[in-house]
Amino acid sequence: MRTDKPPETPNPVKASAGRADPLVMDMYDLVQRQQIKSARFEARRATAELDHQRRTARQDRDEIHDRVEHLTLVCEAMWALLRDRTGMTDADLDRMIDDLDLADGRRDRKRTATPTRCECGSAIPVGSDQCLFCERPVDRRPIFDRI
Ligand SMILES: [Zn+2]
Repeated sequence: MRTDKPPETPNPVKASAGRADPLVMDMYDLVQRQQIKSARFEARRATAELDHQRRTARQDRDEIHDRVEHLTLVCEAMWALLRDRTGMTDADLDRMIDDLDLADGRRDRKRTATPTRCECGSAIPVGSDQCLFCERPVDRRPIFDRI
């Protein structure tokens, strides 16, 4: 959104101590109306842009929600197959979830990517496929760090 103000038009009545030429006053009114029209146009444009951004954000949120629901369904189906065919229990799954959750030292119900170190000793950011300092390629990361 633009925040710069239009140039201010000097008021001819103030500038002439109350005795402004009617033609100058007409010109002043014309300039003022044009500035008001431009400001209204800019306000409508900014409102339309904001509405578009809100719609896009809502669509993104809904799409993420749908993907999470689908992933949850796929995880549930995989777990049902595994449980039914191996004899593992929900308690086994809970223990493994806790173990993985605590691998980063915090119980936050989130997965944290495994930190990677380059041979040169530098930390390699998650998502990078090479060292930022020596440009050595990263060895294959654990499968869930590649998602
Ligand atoms: Zn390196």
